[in-house]
Amino acid sequence: MRGNFNKRPGSGFNSGSRSSAYGRGFGRGGGRGRGFTGSRIDESKFINKATANNKAVEYAPTHEFSDYAIDQQLKNNISEKGYVKPTAIQDKAIAEILEGKDIIGMADTGTGKTAAFLIPLIDKVIKNKKEKVLIMAPTRELALQINAEFRDFAKGLGIYSAAIVGGGGMREQIMQLRRGCNVLIGTPGRLKDLMERGHIGLAECRNVVLDEADRMLDMGFINDIKLILGKMPQEKQVLLFSATLSREIETLSQSFLKNPIKIETKLRDTSSNVDQDIIRVGMAEDKTEVLHNLLIKENFKKVLIFGTTKMGVERLSNNLNARGFKTVSIHGDKTQSGRQLALKLFKENKINILVATDVAARGLDIPEVSHVINFEIPKTFEDYVHRIGRTGRADKKGTALTFVGGKTAAKDSASSGAGRSRHFSSRSFGGGKYR
Ligand code: AMP
Repeated sequence: MRGNFNKRPGSGFNSGSRSSAYGRGFGRGGGRGRGFTGSRIDESKFINKATANNKAVEYAPTHEFSDYAIDQQLKNNISEKGYVKPTAIQDKAIAEILEGKDIIGMADTGTGKTAAFLIPLIDKVIKNKKEKVLIMAPTRELALQINAEFRDFAKGLGIYSAAIVGGGGMREQIMQLRRGCNVLIGTPGRLKDLMERGHIGLAECRNVVLDEADRMLDMGFINDIKLILGKMPQEKQVLLFSATLSREIETLSQSFLKNPIKIETKLRDTSSNVDQDIIRVGMAEDKTEVLHNLLIKENFKKVLIFGTTKMGVERLSNNLNARGFKTVSIHGDKTQSGRQLALKLFKENKINILVATDVAARGLDIPEVSHVINFEIPKTFEDYVHRIGRTGRADKKGTALTFVGGKTAAKDSASSGAGRSRHFSSRSFGGGKYR
């Protein structure tokens, strides 16, 4: 039987306004208007040698997946995914969640936190198909990544999810909701929209996950989150995951969590696997040219380039395409299907250069990124740490390079550069204009 989130008629909501997404500083810059800008981060913080012994100390879990009193098919699905033993966050959180406790999990992406909340919640739904689960995540990509993982774990179990993300087709999402589902995974803005339109009712939903809660607050989702949580029953299980524990997170948890168990897992310093250095560019020098000369090097195998603005990112991606590199871009001005396709092509190594705003800095699990390049300096040091955390994953060594100084030519007319690239085909994807 499919659960359903259909809203009872007649209970409209007032709007909770949301401030814009990435305009504000993360952490330090909060509340200061234009806030703490990248140019004020000490350059020395962008230089660091990866520690020689960069292998994380292997975590010895106290549980095995087979120990948990969870459904056998769910166990089969876990091993089919190749998970042999729980990661630290799974080891510490799954048993507590199975007991119905509220959790504050201090864990970043890459630690296995998605399975830490999905496994016990899926089991809860298997045991009572009337249970409903709401999972909120800051970005569409992260929500869709969680949904993909949900589908793997839920195989053959007769429980269903709907992904409710901004940018995706609203009608298709409404159809999914009408068909009924046990698990809703979405971004707060779109969830609120569909609640207000009467398509989502949360009066029966007693399980909620706030994933990357710090990021959601930084993106200005606080009012939406409070509004959504306020529509759920008083008695509910709340699981909050956050990489940092700010005052705002504490306040949120005091309002909505009951006697939460705090779980902290830090296997290693995120950046200890990453060789970090700066690329100093003369004031009159063209940064794109310098970047070009890096990208043609053999060891720049899979490169994630960060810019700050949506326009700047799109322009850089187009300029690199015109120079003969194959790139895709991801930023808030692209359609959701364009963003998903770009990410897929990059993840699957079909395209080896992704140019992105900070929308790709957190949460995304992209294998084998050899280099992160900060073409523009991030707004805050926290953003920097998240950006460079996209490389050096799974105990591999990565490299992060940060451009300092230089200028970007307003119009890059380097199309004649096609063919200069040794390692990237001169064909630009989709004629250089990616959709
Ligand atoms: P996450 O932090 O949830 O984004 O997970 C990071 C990566 O670790 C994903 O690729 C997961 O598939 C993988 N992963 C999660 N749990 C385990 C596990 N117990 N064993 C092996 N890989 C895992």
